[in-house]
Amino acid sequence: MPVSRRAQGNAAQQVSLVVLLGPPGAGKSTQARRLAERCSIPFLDTGDMLRDEVRRGTKLGFQAERYMKAGELVPDTLVGPMLEERLSQAAESGGVILDGYPRTLAQAELLDSLVNKKGLPPPRVFLVDVPTANLLKRLTARRVCPRCGRNYNTYEQPPQKPGVCDFDGAPLVQRPDDREAVVRERLRVYRKETQPTIDYYARQGRLARIDGTQAQEKVTSDIVAKVSQ
Ligand code: AMP
Repeated sequence: MPVSRRAQGNAAQQVSLVVLLGPPGAGKSTQARRLAERCSIPFLDTGDMLRDEVRRGTKLGFQAERYMKAGELVPDTLVGPMLEERLSQAAESGGVILDGYPRTLAQAELLDSLVNKKGLPPPRVFLVDVPTANLLKRLTARRVCPRCGRNYNTYEQPPQKPGVCDFDGAPLVQRPDDREAVVRERLRVYRKETQPTIDYYARQGRLARIDGTQAQEKVTSDIVAKVSQ
């Protein structure tokens, strides 16, 4: 399940809506989880939400699965309503961190209109930037806990006991879309579809770039510092 939880922290007062952009493998999910704890607001990970629909065998999961397996984007007709519903709930929690949305210009425009409609402040947008050359290795080495959703990396961030989650002891798995051929397609889709989204926010002076090659702690503290400004 995507995690939605409130935790201890002191940055919540300044935060309402945070958007994390970045290529697959940049560490957005890890950062979303860390920021959610630091800022005491929930996060929404659209990839996790869709995987959860697939696992539960819902109609949406059934419709989304073939796109996800191929490394393609799930159509907006499926993702948009899912986001709108969750965004309404999130607005009541004092804010939300969006991980994996928007990924296209159309999604960025939809988000702006939903934010207006719901009277939320405009999103603070961060690009977690990692050079493409690092991403293939990062993604194919990624292992995920199917129970709590935490990510590991067999090279850079292995679990204490190989193949087992440090937090709940569940056996780690490789996401089907982290196989090399699918990763290459996801990176192609990112360059084609998500780059214009980044340009859209940059043109409006709404984009802050964060060096995603730094240690996880440093990436989090860089974002928190900018969120608190
Ligand atoms: P992620 O876990 O963020 O890498 O997302 C996994 C897959 O879910 C993507 O490759 C897409 O197929 C789908 N997905 C996640 N977020 C979106 C989105 N905002 N729009 C369309 N498809 C998405």
